[in-house]
Amino acid sequence: MATFGIVGSGIGGIALAIRMAVLGQKVSVFEANPYPGGKLCQIEVNGFRFDAGPSLFTLPQLVDELFSLAGKNPRTHFNYQKLPVICHYFWEDGTRLDTFADPQKTANEFAEKLGENPEHIRTYLQGLQTKYQIISELFLENSLHDYRTWTGKKALQGYMNLGKLGLFSTMHEANTQSFQHPKTVQLFDRYATYNGSDPYQTPATLGIIPHLEYNIGAFFPEGGMISITNSLVGLAKEVGVEFHFNEKVIEIITENKQATGIKTKQASYAFDFVASNMDIRPTYQHLLPQEKAPKKLLNQPKSSSGIIFYWGMNTKFDELGVHNIFFSDHYEAEFKAIFKDKSLSDDPTAYLHISSKINSNDAQEGGENWFILVNAPANEGQDWEALVKQTRENVIRKISKCLGKDIAQYIIAEDHLDPRSIESRTSSSGGALYGNASNNKFAAFLRHPNYRSAIKNLYWVGGSVHPGGGIPLCLSSAKIAAKHFQENT
Ligand SMILES: Cc1cc2nc3c(=O)[nH]c(=O)nc-3n(C[C@H](O)[C@H](O)[C@H](O)COP(=O)(O)OP(=O)(O)OC[C@H]3O[C@@H](n4cnc5c(N)ncnc54)[C@H](O)[C@@H]3O)c2cc1C
Repeated sequence: MATFGIVGSGIGGIALAIRMAVLGQKVSVFEANPYPGGKLCQIEVNGFRFDAGPSLFTLPQLVDELFSLAGKNPRTHFNYQKLPVICHYFWEDGTRLDTFADPQKTANEFAEKLGENPEHIRTYLQGLQTKYQIISELFLENSLHDYRTWTGKKALQGYMNLGKLGLFSTMHEANTQSFQHPKTVQLFDRYATYNGSDPYQTPATLGIIPHLEYNIGAFFPEGGMISITNSLVGLAKEVGVEFHFNEKVIEIITENKQATGIKTKQASYAFDFVASNMDIRPTYQHLLPQEKAPKKLLNQPKSSSGIIFYWGMNTKFDELGVHNIFFSDHYEAEFKAIFKDKSLSDDPTAYLHISSKINSNDAQEGGENWFILVNAPANEGQDWEALVKQTRENVIRKISKCLGKDIAQYIIAEDHLDPRSIESRTSSSGGALYGNASNNKFAAFLRHPNYRSAIKNLYWVGGSVHPGGGIPLCLSSAKIAAKHFQENT
């Protein structure tokens, strides 16, 4: 039995801990916070409970797989429902549109509300499926630093279909070619934000993101998103993982280019293997200053961050569902402001807000808990006090206009996060939600690998490394790391 020390209990760290424990290793997880989950945690204010980070849950089978690996029935530990309505969309001109788990219903809705040719929607969604089948196994389930990834059958299929993968146009260009109505383009462009990127720069390849929602489904866990963290931490403990909360790691100890242990504020621990679930940039800067860092990679532009408002409302809003997006027509300016000017536009609510009634049981009697995400640049020292104040006013004005009532009067509890607090709570560089941005066609190839021969016995998991940010990809990073461990020890 080897000993395994993990820095951080984000979803990637927890998943790796479970996989290693199931493989028979003795695993210890060190977490700086008093609670697990990193971005996937919760906030409580005056009788309201909010999921602090992710609200959209796709590919739940990746969570189920961890229970099955440990010989448990996932359904006795963790449950979720498929959402029949994926999202409600609102525009300031009064247009409203819903998207559904059923692609045909979605196509009909676009035809009815926007006059979009339903055939365009159906063809687009089918095309996503084909691209996903080519890309997913190659990029999302394997290391890009293993020659076998590039020489297998899937790789061959990828080379033969290179033209179809959209490497040479942007997501916005591809969507403009696929649809007639600017609102349809806008709606599908927004999926670039699912990995914190800009649809005007990110390659059309990332247009596969909506495949997960439209062709497979969006899900909601019973008890809220926090139940993903809580049920997996419960599972990790059942398979013998030891958690050290409130124990910040200050060094990854290396000898002769090999990780040999962890130093925390409290003590030093020897391990046969170490993994970092901390963002790559602070890991190299603070935990591995003795090792040569891949500077070019660490200096890549960051993905977007966010200003998130958590509002306890003392009334219910029947027109809202679990996921709601509020658009306005001049959203291009918002992306320019975030990714080029590193600020928010004059109308920082021009692009979108997600307002999710996460779980009505988590609100005071008769009320609702709202989670409102406004996309924002990563922290580079902007005046966040002023930006948060201005954004709060704009969000209230915008949602009030779309819903036809002044929503400010219903807010009875509130909290917020901005890029600074996201950074201080999770150590994510600049508070970026998804590590480096994917704003160029090589970005997918430029993510930090899950292991490097330069520092042996050290694994890397989580949203800042391959294959990327978001819950499913973080879970995949742990799977790829565990596969490497199994094949090489
Ligand atoms: C507002 C918001 C909305 C999002 N929406 C979605 C969504 O809808 N769907 C989706 O799939 N994803 C979404 N994401 C992204 C998703 O939350 C992340 O990609 C994912 O949770 C990151 O997991 P991780 O494994 O990288 O760890 P992180 O969540 O980054 O956690 C890292 C952990 O390591 C700990 N740590 C760091 N340094 C140290 C140290 N030195 N010593 C000890 N511990 C340390 C931190 O305290 C933290 O607990 C969202 C994120 C945010 C913030």
